[in-house]
Amino acid sequence: MESIKEILAKLERSLQNQASSTQKLELSAKAECSDCGDLGYVMDEAKKMRECECVKEKRVMARIPERYRKASLLDFDEETRALILDWMARPSDGLFLTGKAGRGKTYLAAAIVRTFLLINREAWFHRADDLFAQVRRGYRDGIDEDDTLKKFLVGDYAVLDDVGAGSLSDHERRCTLAVIDRRFGLCCSTIVTTNWDLEQIAQRMDERIASRLASFTQIEMGGRDRRISV
Ligand SMILES: [Zn+2]
Repeated sequence: MESIKEILAKLERSLQNQASSTQKLELSAKAECSDCGDLGYVMDEAKKMRECECVKEKRVMARIPERYRKASLLDFDEETRALILDWMARPSDGLFLTGKAGRGKTYLAAAIVRTFLLINREAWFHRADDLFAQVRRGYRDGIDEDDTLKKFLVGDYAVLDDVGAGSLSDHERRCTLAVIDRRFGLCCSTIVTTNWDLEQIAQRMDERIASRLASFTQIEMGGRDRRISV
């Protein structure tokens, strides 16, 4: 088991590498990896096979929407970064990122997923409206709801982005509650972004969703752009 200190050191190292990694991300999208020739593995100094860095980069590309692929915790002020790194080293049941539209909640959530991926943690990024659409499509195609939900339940960490932005139908409330509740039951952390606070979620969406989110670590994002105040 890694100590908190070791995890924090790993996170800090990963952040230091992120600037150069952003550069590589663009290269590996087009060309064959010069380190491993796209095998995915390289030999280290001790003659042991290890995963090539390009594999992590490809994972970032596959899991984070294009617009947010270069999202980095380095783009936030030191206080916020320290707070997020501390949460990442000792994650609670979840992270509840709230604040008005345009404050960088999605960007921060993507930066967290990217950083987790770069230190080999299993992390995913899902949009809430994609969850609703996939379950609906599943009904149409005769796929069991539990089978559709599976992909949203995997991973020690998963973002559910922009909760509460849809039509707030029963279908949307039910899917949101199912994912948050089941991930909680599996001891997996969920990172929820939303324009609403807990009271608004309780009133407009579902009290059970609000009460589950109340056990998460809450960060309210203010400021004008990506900067956040907590
Ligand atoms: Zn490679």
